[in-house]
Amino acid sequence: MGKVIVLPETTKNPITLIGMRAGVCWGGDIQDQEKNCKRGMDCIVANHGRTMEYVNVEMVLDGYSARVIREWYTHIGGAPTRLQSSTRYINYQDGFDYIIPHGMKGNTAALEEYTKAIKNIQESLKKLEELGVAREDSAMLLPLGMATKIVDKRNLRNLVDMSRQRMCARAYWEYRALFGDICDVLRHYSEEWAWIVDNLFMPKCDVIGKCTEKKSCGRHQKEHTE
Ligand SMILES: Cc1cc2nc3c(=O)[nH]c(=O)nc-3n(C[C@H](O)[C@H](O)[C@H](O)COP(=O)(O)OP(=O)(O)OC[C@H]3O[C@@H](n4cnc5c(N)ncnc54)[C@H](O)[C@@H]3O)c2cc1C
Repeated sequence: MGKVIVLPETTKNPITLIGMRAGVCWGGDIQDQEKNCKRGMDCIVANHGRTMEYVNVEMVLDGYSARVIREWYTHIGGAPTRLQSSTRYINYQDGFDYIIPHGMKGNTAALEEYTKAIKNIQESLKKLEELGVAREDSAMLLPLGMATKIVDKRNLRNLVDMSRQRMCARAYWEYRALFGDICDVLRHYSEEWAWIVDNLFMPKCDVIGKCTEKKSCGRHQKEHTE
């Protein structure tokens, strides 16, 4: 499975920072960190979402599939940014790591077929290199299941919103696993992060008390019954 690295530019005490920024606008004492933390918590509890945009999160996501990163890229609220491993400059001709789909793990014949297809791609990439084809052209063969790496930067509000979609039991399994890895590393980054992960990151159904998905997992009652 992949690995999440939290970069040091990630805000260490997000709740305190939120309170400090809000304190400027409220004429509060922003020198007192305890008061900042309490004020930050008040902002969060009152759902003043804009204040969460001051909290920076920078991470390296390494070894997840190009497919899940494609889904990651749809979370554009708050203009996040990222860099992704190049398909032109990195040499994939000598092979690449790839993700084994969950559902194939116990199915030997399916796994064999999947692995064979990946190996075929790897062999073709090698042959195309020998035939003088530029990597930017042969890279068209790279599959969505290949492992990739990104450096990602976004704010807390975006990540909270992402949790609502991607902790949903109906979300793609690899995304749920990736989001779980993010929760694990952020939980250990600081005590304030541990509170955020445990209290703000949750599927949307837990927030509204009903399921909005067409096909429900049954965790909560459906919003509309047909
Ligand atoms: C079960 C499931 C199935 C899914 N299937 C698919 C699928 O088949 N295909 C697919 O592409 N995606 C799919 N998704 C992903 C999902 O639909 C969203 O594309 C994804 O969650 C990112 O969009 P977002 O609005 O949630 O987040 P963001 O883009 O980060 O937006 C967050 C919030 O910011 C605000 N916002 C963002 N942009 C604007 C704007 N331009 N104007 C005004 N307000 C804005 C909105 O309030 C929005 O809710 C699926 C998700 C789930 C959970």
